[in-house]
Amino acid sequence: MPEVWDAIVVGGGHNGLVAAAYLAKAGLKVLVLERRRIVGGASVTEEVFPGVRFSRLAYSAGLLRPEVIRDLDLPRFGYEVHPFDPQFFLPFPNGDSILLWNDADRNHRELARFSKRDADAYPKYVAFWTDVMELIEAMVLEAPPALSDLMALFRGAEAEDLARRVLLSSAADLLDEFFESTEVKAMLATATTIGLPAGPRTPGTALMLGHMLLHEINGVKQTFGYARGGMGGISQALAKAASHYGATILTSAEVRRIVTRRRRAAGVELADGRSMEARNVLANVDVKTTFERLVEPDGVDPDFLARVRRIKATGVVTKVNCILSELPDFTCRPGKTVQPHHRGYIDVCPSIEYLEKAWDDAKWGEPSREPFLDCVLHSVTDPSLAPPGKTTLSVYSQYSPYRLRTGSWDDRKEEVGDTILETLAAFAPNLRHTVERREVLSPLDMEREWGLPGGCIYQIDMTPDQLLSLRPLPGWSSYRTPVPGLYLCGSSAHPGGGVTGAPGRNAAMVVLGDLRVAPV
Ligand SMILES: Cc1cc2nc3c(=O)[nH]c(=O)nc-3n(C[C@H](O)[C@H](O)[C@H](O)COP(=O)(O)OP(=O)(O)OC[C@H]3O[C@@H](n4cnc5c(N)ncnc54)[C@H](O)[C@@H]3O)c2cc1C
Repeated sequence: MPEVWDAIVVGGGHNGLVAAAYLAKAGLKVLVLERRRIVGGASVTEEVFPGVRFSRLAYSAGLLRPEVIRDLDLPRFGYEVHPFDPQFFLPFPNGDSILLWNDADRNHRELARFSKRDADAYPKYVAFWTDVMELIEAMVLEAPPALSDLMALFRGAEAEDLARRVLLSSAADLLDEFFESTEVKAMLATATTIGLPAGPRTPGTALMLGHMLLHEINGVKQTFGYARGGMGGISQALAKAASHYGATILTSAEVRRIVTRRRRAAGVELADGRSMEARNVLANVDVKTTFERLVEPDGVDPDFLARVRRIKATGVVTKVNCILSELPDFTCRPGKTVQPHHRGYIDVCPSIEYLEKAWDDAKWGEPSREPFLDCVLHSVTDPSLAPPGKTTLSVYSQYSPYRLRTGSWDDRKEEVGDTILETLAAFAPNLRHTVERREVLSPLDMEREWGLPGGCIYQIDMTPDQLLSLRPLPGWSSYRTPVPGLYLCGSSAHPGGGVTGAPGRNAAMVVLGDLRVAPV
């Protein structure tokens, strides 16, 4: 008799590992199959150049749910995160710059340099989002409520106005309500369109301002930071936890087919020809790949398949990972030795208009001529990542449309890499001669190497029409799929992308509930 697993998880991204750990901890026999030679998916640290390790895709920590950290006892398996401080540094073309710290008084002084009114408004803005995000946070670790139930929470004129501001407004409109200074608004807008095919003036982007506040590090809310060992440090801790609780993890194990028997998930077939049987299959791989390529066509209803094909997955990001021979020397804050502004996010986004114009280019299939950049010098806070004297520079850049109007990504990615680095060099000119080596990862690379459809960083778009009970499709936000025994446990499912562990945990809970097995 062939071995039958209780659950096979297709994909060893961080959510697949979270799901596997919860299921194994509850006593199930679990197998994780990862196509790449290393687990972690988009949350991975790899030695790209000899002796230098990069968080190749995801680059900042703080979203992993505290419940997941606690339930899986992750610190015991090497999980360690620390806050950035300062959180943000934005240089401006006029030679000024802004820093956002983890200290209210310091922030008040810093913001008041740009506008006293904005400095006073900032705590009110944070309090506004804190209240809203408490509502949202309550929905993160459960299947989302039906849209009608969600809307029923907003009864009365005041609540309706809140729904308008939070769910329907653009980020720019909401920031205009609170602030007047170009620089303060620019700093806060950086978070709004991360990974989205949208600009800060696109309706519905306001919610992302709050989404970013779901970050929490070591009990301190609304804090971004770094993981020891890079983002792969988180995935490695999860893999160790999953193995400890009894899961088996195989890498270089590409699933070619999810096998159904009598219309129920029954196992998988690997690209190398091996077959494995399972009572349940959890797809950590995205929903489009799952149904468009892995489930046999006669195993799924054609109408459902047609709806899956219409799910949007839009790549807009290029990532550039560089080795530097010295620290970036910013004109506005000179110096090549470590200073506070080297320790957190370094963003190029001088204004909301700048960000919107960057999106304008991409709408028509052109990489932004003046891109938005979100950079981190990981080796400054974690020297284990690079040898002495070398610095890692991670540049996340928008917008890079997957579908180019002219040329192909293979032909154009180095040119786009040049534009990105030149954009940063305008503020730190020594970059022009300190980049020793670099890798440029286009949306096409993200699709080919990590399986992200269309290079979409969240597997599928996190636009309002694909969030909450609409994710991945209306009627299918419960992690179950039309194929009994097949579940979604990756970021295609609620609450979506980011290294949260939430889809993985939620899916595991649904599987355990369906099997009538109590979680441990
Ligand atoms: C450039 C970039 C920057 C980002 N920055 C951040 C950030 O700073 N902070 C943050 O919190 N989030 C960030 N994100 C988002 C975050 O990384 C993802 O949302 C998250 O890692 C997704 O995890 P997942 O487990 O759901 O899926 P994935 O990471 O997509 O994992 C899916 C796994 O399935 C595997 N797979 C695919 N096909 C097969 C197959 N046929 N057989 C077996 N295995 C298969 C893949 O190799 C992959 O390992 C970023 C993402 C990108 C791309």
